[in-house]
Amino acid sequence: MATIRITKMYDFEMAHVLKDYDGPCRNIHGHSYKLFVTITGTPITDPASPKKGMVMDFKDLKAIVKGLIVDPFDHSLVISSETDPEMIQSMKKHIEKLITVDFQPTSENLVIHFAGMISAALPANVKLHNIRLWETATSYSEWFADDNEA
Ligand SMILES: [Zn+2]
Repeated sequence: MATIRITKMYDFEMAHVLKDYDGPCRNIHGHSYKLFVTITGTPITDPASPKKGMVMDFKDLKAIVKGLIVDPFDHSLVISSETDPEMIQSMKKHIEKLITVDFQPTSENLVIHFAGMISAALPANVKLHNIRLWETATSYSEWFADDNEA
């Protein structure tokens, strides 16, 4: 049985701040992110299954990633939990979608974070192969399962 990869693409707008960074990303600013999620598996062969011929229904993959990542992160501001606590408290009063993460919110760290969330939510018959997060038109970070297996 052939192993197949399927990919779904998502986009969302997100602001972030890179604390202590020596470039312009230390200021609050946003990016139009594009996220590509690739999973691997074998197409379902059960003739009685409504999903026969599919590794996973694209609709189901869409729902998982939308619920975990796109909806919460779209039009949010993501900051490190190491930000000055007084500033975090003040921002919480004024910013509805403020997400505090325990890492510097670079595209590299975001793909690690997103990969963990997606992997945990996938059904047992498929596996996360890689995710790619475009931060700008010319820059992306990737996480590959093969690179990260113990
Ligand atoms: Zn940035």
